[in-house]
Amino acid sequence: METRIINGTLISNQIKDELKVKVKQLQDSGIMPGLAVVLVGDNSASKVYVGNKKKVCEYVGIKSFSYELPEQTSEAHLLELIDVLNQDTEIHGILIQLPLPHHMDEQKVIAAIDPCKDVDGFHTANAGALLVGAPGFVSCTPAGIMELLKRYQVDLVGKKCVVVGRSNIVGKPISLLLLREHATVTMCHSKTKNLQEEVKQADVLVVAVGVAKMITGNMLKEGVVVIDVGMNRDENGNLCGDVDFVSCEGIASLITPVPRGVGPMTIAMLMHNCVQAAAMRKEK
Ligand code: NDP
Repeated sequence: METRIINGTLISNQIKDELKVKVKQLQDSGIMPGLAVVLVGDNSASKVYVGNKKKVCEYVGIKSFSYELPEQTSEAHLLELIDVLNQDTEIHGILIQLPLPHHMDEQKVIAAIDPCKDVDGFHTANAGALLVGAPGFVSCTPAGIMELLKRYQVDLVGKKCVVVGRSNIVGKPISLLLLREHATVTMCHSKTKNLQEEVKQADVLVVAVGVAKMITGNMLKEGVVVIDVGMNRDENGNLCGDVDFVSCEGIASLITPVPRGVGPMTIAMLMHNCVQAAAMRKEK
């Protein structure tokens, strides 16, 4: 079977260009979309992510407001800053780069963000909205996966989708989104018995585990669509996914590579959520 490679870079660029047009329209009506990006501490990976987000903001036309706080910042101080950002009418989205330093309670910090500015979709109000099918912000990686499936015209109705991983930011929300599109969804995790049997059933397989190359071609059903969310380093220090890409070629019908698969979609959907937040403000 011919395996087509899903080009996340291409689709994310299309989305960014579509958003550029929307931002221009908002600006013409007097709304300048603004995103506050808050980084606490010196985590080098986080610094790279934040830098990329600011760059993409600039490309799309979103004004980014940067807050870089030292590692020893108190939780109370961060909560005060969030309160100020919640009130600031120039800011439509608030992004707190995770992970936070250990002395901070991430759930408490996320809960302090105005749900209307929670462009990461991590607030329980937005997570709950997704659960009951109400409008709200969907977290960016799952939203990006759905956009890839849509733009590659993957029909989900009645399909057997298997999600490996049940985190709040990927596994759980992607399961709900697939369910919303009428798929039959199985959620797997570290306690799943016979993971191999579950994976073999999948018409669409989403893997978000964080273990390099744990899913191999021999575990798959012929023709499966494989979405690999993982971002790991292999034995040579190269970026790789949770799926062993090479062994899946010739078996999967569609597959996301790592890098240039799901990764670029996450930032594109963050921009999408920020534009949505600004547009919602316009409607108020
Ligand atoms: P978490 O560590 O929060 O969750 C991992 C999940 O995998 C858990 O539910 C865990 O089960 C499950 N798991 C762990 N080991 C196994 C196993 N052997 N068999 C089956 N399930 C297992 O990870 P995230 O969801 O945050 O991230 C997953 C991966 O995706 C990481 O590599 C991360 O870097 C990447 N990622 C990439 C993004 C992108 O933009 N491309 C964005 C977010 C994440 P249990 O609940 O039982 O412990």
